[in-house]
Amino acid sequence: MELEDINTVAVLGAGNMGHGIAEVVAMAGYDVNMRDIKDEFVQNGYEQIEWSLNKLAENDQLTEEEADAALERVTPLVDMAEACGDADVVIEAVPEQMEIKKDVYTELEEVADDDAIFATNTSSLSITNLAEFTERPERFCGMHFFNPPVRMDLVEVISGAESSEETLETIEALAEDVGKTPVRVHKDSPGFIVNRVLVPLMNEACWLVHDDEATIAEVDSTTKYGMGLPMGSFELADLTGIDVGYHVLDYMHEVLGEAYEPSPLFEQKVEDEELGKKTGKGFYDYEDGEGAQIPTDEQSELVEKRLIATLANESAKLIGNDVAPPESIDEATKLGAGFPDGPVKMADEFGIENVLEALEEAYEETGHARYEPADYLEERTEAGGFYEQDGGDEATEFETIRIEYPGDHVGHVVIDRPHRMNTISDDLLEELSEAVDLLEDDDEVRSILLTGEGEQAFSAGADVQSMAGSGADPLEITELSKAGQEAFGKLESCEMPVVAGIDGFCLGGGMELATCADLRVASERSEFGQPELNLGLIPGWGGTQRLKHIVGEGRAKEIILTAERFDAETMADYGFVNEVVDNDDLTERALELATDLAGGPPIAQKFAKRAMLAGRDDTDAGLEYEASAFGQLMATDDLMEGITAFMEDEEPEFEGK
Ligand code: NAD
Repeated sequence: MELEDINTVAVLGAGNMGHGIAEVVAMAGYDVNMRDIKDEFVQNGYEQIEWSLNKLAENDQLTEEEADAALERVTPLVDMAEACGDADVVIEAVPEQMEIKKDVYTELEEVADDDAIFATNTSSLSITNLAEFTERPERFCGMHFFNPPVRMDLVEVISGAESSEETLETIEALAEDVGKTPVRVHKDSPGFIVNRVLVPLMNEACWLVHDDEATIAEVDSTTKYGMGLPMGSFELADLTGIDVGYHVLDYMHEVLGEAYEPSPLFEQKVEDEELGKKTGKGFYDYEDGEGAQIPTDEQSELVEKRLIATLANESAKLIGNDVAPPESIDEATKLGAGFPDGPVKMADEFGIENVLEALEEAYEETGHARYEPADYLEERTEAGGFYEQDGGDEATEFETIRIEYPGDHVGHVVIDRPHRMNTISDDLLEELSEAVDLLEDDDEVRSILLTGEGEQAFSAGADVQSMAGSGADPLEITELSKAGQEAFGKLESCEMPVVAGIDGFCLGGGMELATCADLRVASERSEFGQPELNLGLIPGWGGTQRLKHIVGEGRAKEIILTAERFDAETMADYGFVNEVVDNDDLTERALELATDLAGGPPIAQKFAKRAMLAGRDDTDAGLEYEASAFGQLMATDDLMEGITAFMEDEEPEFEGK
């Protein structure tokens, strides 16, 4: 079965997860049969889908018509044969109990098509064991959505012992087609990736408090403000449900051994039925108290060391046992748990040798199995880190940009295509993104300066010639738009200050790039503009979303809709340019500013940038829309007209086709 063969998807269970999964799949255009054991349960799930679709429409994330059409594609059912008889894929989201799941698969096997794929949304049970309840273990795998499916991007696609590659690829393709990011879990290992990392983190937090090594306030202050995770460890446990984490831990304990022994504090909470927010009380008190009030200034080095060691040791076990490579662990944890960096990268940044030392020290002190360093961690310590270390013998070679180090902690990225007015090509996008990674990983660099080679242009925009290649496929162009949004977004969310030094043309994609810097200095002769609408296009690399945050929506509309050119002074009035300088002083002044910023407090700068970015409204929805609109425009006559007129230096005549 391939993606093209999938028309009907059955979802078993209309509870918390089932109704959310049904909604997501229906929104992507599939017919969905949603089944539960009682009419009232399935109706309840259906009403929740209706409510959620209406909410999305109210927030303009869907049109009313799309919301209605999605709801129409969902059929609530109680009869198993009716629900699953013609399903190509069945996603099971019934309660997390082996016995219930066993009965469900036995019943399902009797009515389902022989070719259909079964995917389970289980959070903790063994995929291989569940597959044994069916007669199709090769057409069975895990498809683990996160709560709530409508909002969470991640889907872990888990291989059971007998899942076929074709099945896994089809389920990954389905996950992508419904707008999610699949991450492959190559082996059926307890907790898969995200829970495998998070649950031991919560357990370690409990052990630290139980052993009087730290207070709850110290642990959460360190987790949230020291390590920069989105929530404190205890705050997270309260939010997800202490019993839910405990259940996964208990299973790990059973299968993986003593390293996963639940801390008595964890156990006590479950016994006392203080399960977190949902019961009004957990580690924090939400009814009589003020909930999770986490102090910013009670960070502890010991807590940080132990928590990072825990994350790193779990990651090492996953990598060493071929469950998932470092990139997948980092991606899954970022998407599924909102970590700003994945645990593997965090461990490398902390220093893998420091991680090993922390584990050895704690192991010696306590003798507890959870601190026993994984073999793979020891192995990688000799190599210097989990990720291959850059910068050693082989410096990264760039074609379209250059990186210079003008001293005093500044990394200077020069767009190096002066013969093509520093226009932005696919390769440049890729290299820019690599450059940001490289500079972020470099402890010596504390600010980035971005300029264009030569005196003509900072960047005159996208490399239109390469993009207007004949018969451009809207989907491919949408992808190109996304690639640009992503590369620029990386610069925007880069943890250190970024200064753009602008000399000459700063147009289209070039202006969108400059928009992602934190500060902009421009020479007097510079010219700015978003000329895309002159070509029958729209700004496709974030311009429709990001510009307004700098100049306000009114000016952003003026700039984009008129597609005019603006001089440096005007752009300074609009707030886009922070400083205008003499033509000859540009490089010097921009470097001076970058150097000043490099002398600032790196952690405070990082947090200030993160907080400001986090406080924006739903830019992602806007970016998604921008990319697909950009792709659609590629197929219009107006675009050809615009580009031809541009090349021939004539006025375009648009027809709206
Ligand atoms: P839930 O209790 O909210 O929903 C389960 C639903 O399944 C209920 O409506 C129940 O009536 C129904 N059901 C029971 N037997 C059935 C049967 N034979 N056929 C069809 N439906 C049946 O549970 P949930 O939170 O949605 O969890 C479902 C699955 O998803 C579990 O395996 C869980 O581990 C997993 N999961 C949960 C979360 C989460 O955060 N809640 C996240 C990821 C995965």
